[in-house]
Amino acid sequence: MINLYELHARELAKMPDNWVMRQWKTMGQDYGIILVIGICAPRFVRGKRKGHINFKKGDKTTEREIYYTKQEHDQWVTDWEFKTGLCSKCTGSGKVFSSWNIETGTKWKPCTACKETGKAQ
Ligand SMILES: [Zn+2]
Repeated sequence: MINLYELHARELAKMPDNWVMRQWKTMGQDYGIILVIGICAPRFVRGKRKGHINFKKGDKTTEREIYYTKQEHDQWVTDWEFKTGLCSKCTGSGKVFSSWNIETGTKWKPCTACKETGKAQ
């Protein structure tokens, strides 16, 4: 799944595709400001955690704290939908997160915003 908070912050930070979100939070009055902390980090290439991000090997010189307001993010998402033609709720997959359980893993449900088409409306 594409993380639009991460993508937005990466664009503002002018960082490459391996710049990933390490932490994020909302802050300020009415939680209207979003802070994303990201870093360029490799992924595990083998073992149990293969494909997961290896933050321990992150490049400290690329660590950035990026702030934007919720309003700016909403505008950015609208532009992203226009640019990609994809639904921002499910980032084009047609499915959204439903629940997570330790035994059954992640469950998905159909995206109602695009009626499972994955296309921007
Ligand atoms: Zn959708």
